[in-house]
Amino acid sequence: MDSEVLKACPFCGKRAAVIATRPVNKKWIEYPLCEYCGAECETVEQWNTRPLEDALRAENKLTHDLFWKVTDAISDAQEKYDSGENTSLAYLLEKLKIIASE
Ligand SMILES: [Zn+2]
Repeated sequence: MDSEVLKACPFCGKRAAVIATRPVNKKWIEYPLCEYCGAECETVEQWNTRPLEDALRAENKLTHDLFWKVTDAISDAQEKYDSGENTSLAYLLEKLKIIASE
């Protein structure tokens, strides 16, 4: 269990988690413990599982990727306009429709 990396504490957000040990039924068991706030969990997997955080990161990545696709489309339309190619708002709208359909 020692080689596994513990995420920051899900309660206080500090990077103060350690693998602690305690006796249970005459055996020593290891468990994640936050040395800052005292939060603890049964397993590293439970400690590191953050379904809401993971969902928000995935959503943030999609938003980030979409932002850059739209920015690239605008830059492309601007370059075509600056080079004297016949571009119009319709060209940009068509590119944005393609992005929206992906
Ligand atoms: Zn904590």
